[in-house]
Order: sequence, then structure tokens, then C-alpha cells
Amino acid sequence: MKDNFEKYIVVKSSPIHGMGIFTNVEIPEGSEILIISGEVISEEECIKREEQGNVYIFWDEDNYIDTSNTEKIKYINHNCDFNCDVLDGEENTLRLIAYRNISAGEELTIDYGYEEIYKECHCSICA
Ligand SMILES: [Zn+2]
Repeated sequence: MKDNFEKYIVVKSSPIHGMGIFTNVEIPEGSEILIISGEVISEEECIKREEQGNVYIFWDEDNYIDTSNTEKIKYINHNCDFNCDVLDGEENTLRLIAYRNISAGEELTIDYGYEEIYKECHCSICA
């Protein structure tokens, strides 16, 4: 298996919201940071769980992954000025990729990509 940056990622309290994930090292643009895997669920099940308040589900076109039981990725916060992107992985996984060069100590963020988040967002673009 290819090495990635997962071992350098730490969970700490975040200035954005609750807990967040941060990198201890510099990560070059385009690098794979970690593999997103968890319980694979259907779209129907995803909708049901989200209605019950589960905010840890990642998806692309036809993969829904509930990351509730993961140690790190479930804590990633939203930022409109995000530094990470979620791409397809091998079967039943997604990959967290560096969208730009990320410095040591930075919080990792993605664009959650659903309408309600932008109303609650306090990032420098939304403020
Ligand atoms: Zn924002």
C-alpha cells in the first residue's frame, strides 16, 4: 500500500468548529493525505441517518460512507477557502487530497458542498 500523510494528521480543537484535523508537516498540492473508508451505506440509508443528525457521511456520485467510527477524518471542518478535496478511491473508499500546498500546523478543510453549510459558515469569504 502506498504511503500517505495520515500518520501526520492530528485531531485538535478547532477555531472553526469543535474539533478539527491538522497536519504536523507540510503537504504538497495533489498529495494523497488519507483514505476515507468506513461503513458503506445506500443513499436511502444516508438520508435516514442524516435526518437523525449523523454529520459524518461522505459521498460522491454513488458511494456513501459513514465515517462515524473513524478516528480522524470525521472531524474535518468546512471552509469555503478549503485546502483539501475529496476524490474517488479504490472500491468503497474516497481519498482526501491536498488541493493546494498546505503548511505544517494548518487545519485541513473541505467544501462540504451542501446548501445549509453556507448559511452557518463564518470563514473569511462568508464574513
Ligand atoms: Zn464560508
